[in-house]
Amino acid sequence: MKTILVTGGTGLVGSAIRQVVETTEKKDDEQWVFIGSKDCDLENVEETRKLFESVKPTHVIHLAAMVGGLFHNLAHNLKFFRKNMAINDNVLALCHEFDVVKCVSCLSTCIFPDKTTYPIDETMVHLGPPHDSNFGYSYAKRMIDVLNKGYAQEHGRKYTSVIPCNVFGPHDNYNLQAGHVLPALIHKAFVAKRDNTSLEVFGSGKPLRQFIYSMDLARLFVRVVREYEDVEPLILSVGESDEVSIRDAVSAVVKAIEFTGNVEYDTSKADGQFKKTASNEKLLKLFPDFKFTPFEQAIQESVQWFVENYETARK
Ligand code: NDP
Repeated sequence: MKTILVTGGTGLVGSAIRQVVETTEKKDDEQWVFIGSKDCDLENVEETRKLFESVKPTHVIHLAAMVGGLFHNLAHNLKFFRKNMAINDNVLALCHEFDVVKCVSCLSTCIFPDKTTYPIDETMVHLGPPHDSNFGYSYAKRMIDVLNKGYAQEHGRKYTSVIPCNVFGPHDNYNLQAGHVLPALIHKAFVAKRDNTSLEVFGSGKPLRQFIYSMDLARLFVRVVREYEDVEPLILSVGESDEVSIRDAVSAVVKAIEFTGNVEYDTSKADGQFKKTASNEKLLKLFPDFKFTPFEQAIQESVQWFVENYETARK
């Protein structure tokens, strides 16, 4: 019997994994344990040790992190760095101490070098400084790869990482300030429709992004923990041709929420990186049969979830 501990199990990605392993991806020889910060503060090594003592995981999916959108990152780089460094160091040290067979941690495409060639691939994580706006989060994430290589080299451990592009879906952080672009947009459009006001979008709308639906990412995580045997990171993203502009994303949200008012772009606000196009070639070679949910359908499902869960959603 495998016991798979999911840190960050109450968040956007964690709750999507929970949904798929309890339904379509269920297996009888796997027991899944999902924990959030109320169950254990992973910044605290003793609490983390107690968690490992009680769960006794054979496998770990490590998602827990301080996560936020561009504007939240800009204001708190030091905090993002220190919190995430502490959490990651504790989790990986305890995986080793408790003889965990496999740990899959989570990087992000936004931690890649700012000045780079496109498309970005898995070999480029350390090839130059990240964008200034989120250097704290980025360097802390990159250190996961350093830890994984260290545990492999010194202890023969199979601890690895995946690199998702922007994720969205049910249970996201829909906060207008701290949320990522899509959930913040969904919330703003909801309010604009309700209050009959214009929808104000930060920035020019021109930057390009790859977005993955949390349910698709969840199915990929499950396959990685079951089948991926390498220490080197693996990008989990939609393809290069599925990249959309923020303007395209706004259109999809506006359509899904049936907002008919004005959309205004506030170009005095920062755009962030213009693009960070990642290649999913390695992923498609590994899992050639994998099918992504179409973007508009995934937006529709996320909007529906937000509207139905407005009172209790994180916002
Ligand atoms: P969420 O913000 O939705 O969830 C974060 C999770 O981490 C929550 O379960 C939270 O617990 C937990 N957590 C935070 N701090 C602590 C702590 N000190 N101790 C224990 N648990 C803690 O994040 P996502 O689901 O969006 O992100 C999951 C992973 O995916 C992260 O590593 C993130 O960096 C990565 N990622 C996310 C992307 C995105 O677009 N969202 C893109 C690429 C990568 P609780 O809610 O109970 O407080």
